[in-house]
Amino acid sequence: MRLVEEAEANRGRTQRLADRFATWYLPLVAAIALATYLLRGDLLAAVAVTVVACSCAFALATPVAMLASIGAAAKRGLLIRGGLVIEALARADTVLLDKTGTLTLGEPELTDVLPLSTLDETEVLRLAAAAERDSEHPLAQAVRHAAAERSVPQTRADAFEATPGFGVSATIDGHTVSVGSIRTLNGAQPPDAAETLQGQGKTLLYVLLDGAAVGILAARDTARTEARAALAALHALGIQNIEVLTGDQPATAQALARDLGIPAHAGLLPHDKVDAIKRHQACGHTVIMLGDGVNDAPALAQADVGIAMGAAGSPVALQAAHAALMTDQLDRLPELIRTARRTMRVVRFNISFTIVYNIVGLTLAALGLLPPIYAAALQSLPDLGIMANSARLLRPPRTTAPYARRDTELQSAPAPS
Ligand code: ADP
Ligand code: MG
Repeated sequence: MRLVEEAEANRGRTQRLADRFATWYLPLVAAIALATYLLRGDLLAAVAVTVVACSCAFALATPVAMLASIGAAAKRGLLIRGGLVIEALARADTVLLDKTGTLTLGEPELTDVLPLSTLDETEVLRLAAAAERDSEHPLAQAVRHAAAERSVPQTRADAFEATPGFGVSATIDGHTVSVGSIRTLNGAQPPDAAETLQGQGKTLLYVLLDGAAVGILAARDTARTEARAALAALHALGIQNIEVLTGDQPATAQALARDLGIPAHAGLLPHDKVDAIKRHQACGHTVIMLGDGVNDAPALAQADVGIAMGAAGSPVALQAAHAALMTDQLDRLPELIRTARRTMRVVRFNISFTIVYNIVGLTLAALGLLPPIYAAALQSLPDLGIMANSARLLRPPRTTAPYARRDTELQSAPAPS
């Protein structure tokens, strides 16, 4: 909670395009009207200047497009919290992804139970499942599921405590049981078997009884099938930096990242993810962070755009994020960026249209070529134009992604000579 609040307070305030405009527009119109009166002595022309100047179109240009876009996106399962988020999304050049639950399905399966002491497999699993009973982490679910599958007897646990990015601990039959990453070992050397399992891309959980390691659980998670296509689409959109930020161990993270062809930073605690984002921001990058877990929440708040996996993600992540993919599909991310860029194109067109209208209108009025009554009638023109142009955003974007189109082109086009 504290990390999330700090990150939110630190996020730089971006000023809206329209706000920057508004500060100088009204004084400008007043000056032109005054100059018209002083230079030409034509009171009617001066009145026409103030009437034809359409300041409300400047005020409308951005919000109407944003509103249309946000509403249409919500219907397609893309939640966007406001116009500032759209502006940042359209600008973004860096995408950082969490691993567990984001790049992977977040439905890990327990594959190995390795006792390290006199306790047998069933006993290790019984203690782990009891300690994990109240955790929302995908790995906790895997442990509970495996225990249920093997009909391991259920045990009561008290004093449950979870440390994001670390693991859980609880009191069982008067003993302290911890389950978590290699950090729970407090620097003790993991057994050789651990390395073999990690090389297979498995995530390891260490089970400790009163501080002594009594077992290792290995879980395997599968990468989301659309991950590769989504990354290709991000590249095609010109996103320069794509990296994985994970709390998992390097060997496990590398196995997946190598597969997907992107770099990974492993062994990160929640505040390390925040620092990684700050480093990119310090270099002038606009950062999108995509994550699902409680451990990602501070990073989501820190990013220029924090995006949560809506359905599979934890409510804490959803709360900290600025946008959400409600369908949990990675290929919705490039779609979200395309939507934002399209919205900004419409906004820019709206503003350009308003500027052109005002220049033409103000000129004609100042020269006395536009009587006030016509100026008044003309004044609603930009508003209507902006409404019509923004309404285009209510239609979903064309679904053919650039990368998909290129693939089919390659197949059908003759080989380059
Ligand atoms: P990621 O950043 O990939 O989503 P997390 O930061 O959530 O991963 O977790 C990092 C590591 O901490 C996990 O790989 C696991 O070893 C350990 N961990 C976190 N939460 C739990 C939990 N509830 N039970 C067991 N281990 C956990
Ligand atoms: Mg995660």
